[in-house]
Amino acid sequence: MILHLRGTVLPDGEPRDLWLLGDRVTFVRPAGAADVVTVADGGFLLPGLVDVHTHPGSGDDAGDLSFDPALFAEHIAAHREAGTTALRFPGLLGEVPAAVREAPDAPRMITAGRWLAWAGLSRTAAFHTVTDDLVASAVAEARAHDGWCKLMGDWDFEAAPVPYKLLRAVVEGVHAAGGRVAVHCQSAEGVLGAARAGVDSVEHGMGMPQECVALMAAHGTAYVPTLTAFAGSAPLRTGGTARDRLWREGHRTMVRRVREAYDAGVTVLAGTDSAPFGNVATEVEHLIAAGLPAHSAVGAASWTARAFLGLSGLTEGGLADVTVYDADPRLDPGTLRRPRRVVLRGRVVR
Ligand SMILES: [Zn+2]
Repeated sequence: MILHLRGTVLPDGEPRDLWLLGDRVTFVRPAGAADVVTVADGGFLLPGLVDVHTHPGSGDDAGDLSFDPALFAEHIAAHREAGTTALRFPGLLGEVPAAVREAPDAPRMITAGRWLAWAGLSRTAAFHTVTDDLVASAVAEARAHDGWCKLMGDWDFEAAPVPYKLLRAVVEGVHAAGGRVAVHCQSAEGVLGAARAGVDSVEHGMGMPQECVALMAAHGTAYVPTLTAFAGSAPLRTGGTARDRLWREGHRTMVRRVREAYDAGVTVLAGTDSAPFGNVATEVEHLIAAGLPAHSAVGAASWTARAFLGLSGLTEGGLADVTVYDADPRLDPGTLRRPRRVVLRGRVVR
């Protein structure tokens, strides 16, 4: 059976017919094919949504260090129901269960192993895997997973971030092994170190100094602000402590930097970092509120993110992931919450 869809294809906005041959897209009507089934006629077609920063498989409680394969499957199902066809996990507390990953309706998954924390940085958060040899551990995680590793660039606000030379050595080591480096940072010094070291993605970037924008643009570093998570937590920091002030000011600064980074040519991507799973549409709305044009904010949670992860979109020969919406998400981003159809790996899953 060959699936056929007709609609306005994003990002180029052209009305097209497309056919799915197994896990591939073609714009050329297959010759002589009798068993063609039209599963969408009209509407707007995206190559699915992408959440590049999500941690399925563990409970909401930060103190819960368990990784539950059944909960992982539940979280993945929530992503899929929402039309999320590709995911990156920058830090997991366990290994992705093969049965979930290899299921015929599984979203594409890019893992990065565990959260790595250099021993000189912090021992205070149990979810970190503490290592004395950050370079070797990072290379090993990238090799063992999908080419990515995830480091804590900073953690305790009172403590110094990972030293620049060490972070640079990690980037060189992982790049030499063909991998990429995602770095958590939420202090001014931490973000500056990551931007100077040329990491592949800055995660969060709270309190980002202005000079980071040009550094990230020069290094091709992507920015994943996870605004959804901070919009929930920063306003709760109403106290008068130095840390409360850092949070409030750091959050205001990061929201400003999102637009500045975008304007400077930095690839800004959508990640939620938080429950509920399947909520990347909310991140799109936060990116628009921060000043991204709606077209780019939708792309940050779809075609731009796929390109960044090495996944093709709705192009000739591209991977057969499609979501269908009644309205144009560039004009009505809320429509992303209501996919009419979800097609993954050439199969209708919703
Ligand atoms: Zn995270």
